[in-house]
Amino acid sequence: MHLLVLTPRGPVMDVEADSIILPLESGFLGVKKGHQPLAGIVVPGGLFHRSSGEKGIHFVSGGVVEVSEERVLILTDAAEEKGEIDLGRAEKALERATLRLKRREAGRLRLESALNRAWRQLREEGVDRKRLLLDMDRALERVPWEGDEGEEAARALKGLRSTLLDKETTVDDLRAAIGPAMDAVQLAGVNVARATLSQKRAQARLQVARGEVLASLL
Ligand code: ATP
Repeated sequence: MHLLVLTPRGPVMDVEADSIILPLESGFLGVKKGHQPLAGIVVPGGLFHRSSGEKGIHFVSGGVVEVSEERVLILTDAAEEKGEIDLGRAEKALERATLRLKRREAGRLRLESALNRAWRQLREEGVDRKRLLLDMDRALERVPWEGDEGEEAARALKGLRSTLLDKETTVDDLRAAIGPAMDAVQLAGVNVARATLSQKRAQARLQVARGEVLASLL
């Protein structure tokens, strides 16, 4: 059957294969000619294929796959043959991704807990504006601001801060002012998910380069 792997930089594989093993969201999938047609989500990992006794292993980044009786078509961001993977570059990418994930996760947690505390106070009678202000300032100081969620959160916290400073504002005004900061927490969550994916990609690339994935299956 035909195995076609396409990336934005062009085709990476265009070969005939007797059997193929793909890393899908639901686990590895083995495919042979005549396989039931399906579509699926490809996760970063090892792509194995065997053609007339010759084995091949590639790294594939995430993407989608369409399996039909005669063909496996993978659309992915990037793919490399095992031997083409630059180990040093992959190790550095993993270090970077792990650090970014750690920072982003810490930032998200700190921001979330500052806002939860503020929200609890706003639900109670008689808001202690001074305490809230102190909390906001602490959050502004301590969150390791990084990326677009950092900018959005800083803007939102500063807005909340000036609402707090204005004695004329009501508790309802304060509740409305906390909304954009909550949006920043959501955005931080999305960015944590992105950083997690980068880390998984780098880990998978390294595993393929080191031959740590499913070698026994072939
Ligand atoms: P880096 O941060 O090291 O650039 P990246 O995650 O940004 O990694 P990708 O977006 O996955 O890289 O890929 C960009 C291009 O570089 C693709 O063509 C991919 O095949 C290639 N590539 C990325 N990392 C490696 C590597 N370690 N060895 C060989 N090619 C790589």
